[in-house]
Amino acid sequence: MEYRQLGQTGLRVSAVSLGGIPLQRIPAGEAEELVRTAIRHGINFIDTARAYTDSESKIGAGLQGLTELPIIASKSMARTKEAMAADVAKSLAAMGLSRIDLYQLHNVKDLETLERTLAPDGAYAALLEAREKGQINHIGISSHVVSVLLAAVETGKFATVMVPYNAIENQAAQELVPRAAAMGLGVIAMKPLAGGALQYAGPALKYILGNPHVSTALVGMDRLSQVASNIQGAEGCLQSDERNQLEELVSKWAGRFCRRCEYCQPCPQGIDIPMIFILDGYHTRYGLQEWARNRYQVIPVKIGECVECGQCEERCPYGLPIREMLQECRARLE
Ligand code: SF4
Ligand code: SF4
Repeated sequence: MEYRQLGQTGLRVSAVSLGGIPLQRIPAGEAEELVRTAIRHGINFIDTARAYTDSESKIGAGLQGLTELPIIASKSMARTKEAMAADVAKSLAAMGLSRIDLYQLHNVKDLETLERTLAPDGAYAALLEAREKGQINHIGISSHVVSVLLAAVETGKFATVMVPYNAIENQAAQELVPRAAAMGLGVIAMKPLAGGALQYAGPALKYILGNPHVSTALVGMDRLSQVASNIQGAEGCLQSDERNQLEELVSKWAGRFCRRCEYCQPCPQGIDIPMIFILDGYHTRYGLQEWARNRYQVIPVKIGECVECGQCEERCPYGLPIREMLQECRARLE
């Protein structure tokens, strides 16, 4: 296993790391075994989130009895100081830890939210206090929106950025990843397999890790066999036949894959288009059908409110047939 610096945190993380989303859909015993197997194979960075239901507690159970702990990261979508302080305490309790190595602002969608979290009564203030108290070591941020992360990097307040980065969604590679690395931040590439759209894991991981600015590729796994195959697949450089395989998949998905850039927003009807595509991705590629349908139920404006005005399609830089895609999502999620 290759290990890389996580920015200026002083931590060295495995190039392939374990993401906590899929742990939600497997039984507790299997999740614990998966965590231990990953650690045995040299994975030393595990990331989860408050939002991933029982993922934190399953990871905590997998860490029980270990003499040497891996580097643990979690995150919260709390935006106020009070709510973030409560979530840090919940994460610590769920994982049975006295300290979490990296705690992140989760899924900061726009500049307004970034500003709100950085206000004196915002979530960031709680993370500073948690760091002073020794509950966490480093503060990071995750987002699907490159411009938000670019602004976050420039604040100098974060040790890491987490961003979707894969052969389909590679917009972060142009400006964000080199800038974050130049500013000394660790770069955590999430969704390196494009949420399951890239079936050839080895080439997809080599593609990401071929970028020397990436600290680690965070891979969601739900089967023990994936641990060794992902680690082995990620070794070495991308060969020309692997590049061809990847390019085939990229061209298959490119015209129908939402990159969650938010440019299509706002919809005049109030439909949260990127959120619906995220939920549909969980439904179709992550195997979380019930979870995705339940989340869709609480979305305030449903797909049926679409009046087919087409404004979203005019703004989408990837030319996605959003109206048609939304109707397909509707059939799955409603
Ligand atoms: S539908 Fe298009 S504009 Fe909207 S978030 Fe997805 S990729 Fe971006
Ligand atoms: S086409 Fe539908 S989803 Fe798109 S902006 Fe118009 S109302 Fe909203």
